[in-house]
Amino acid sequence: MRVGIGHDTHRLEPGRPLLLGGVRVEHSRGLAGHSDADVVLHALTDALLGAAGLGDIGDAYPDTDPRWQGADSRRFVTETLARLNRDGWRVVNVDVIVFAQEPKLGPVKAAIRRSLAELLGLPADAVNVKAKTGEKVGHIGRAEAIACQVVALIGQTI
Ligand code: MG
Repeated sequence: MRVGIGHDTHRLEPGRPLLLGGVRVEHSRGLAGHSDADVVLHALTDALLGAAGLGDIGDAYPDTDPRWQGADSRRFVTETLARLNRDGWRVVNVDVIVFAQEPKLGPVKAAIRRSLAELLGLPADAVNVKAKTGEKVGHIGRAEAIACQVVALIGQTI
């Protein structure tokens, strides 16, 4: 068994769609970034790469590479899963915390969980999604950004 941790933050800006865990969330602003800026999928990718000892998302999918301009971040997860599978790893479970003052994530947590479970090929009970506000302090609390933290457990397939 191996464990990995991932963390990411993206700024909220007008005129961008808001994607969280592959789910389009209705909001007046979205996350800024080189790819589709899906902060949940970036943190998940980093947790998986970390568990397998494969560095970080910046090494694996550099934002200087035009292939990743506007990329659907689900590709980062599926390509990482393929790398893990080649090395004999399978994902056991993931635990996800999304930090957002707005929009309120209670209504979309279940959809994010389903989306991640489908992407990872896991049952829903192996993919936990929690939402926290920033208690109106700091960059999260002022709704300037959304952050995400993910812990992933992987195991060798025998
Ligand atoms: Mg990112």
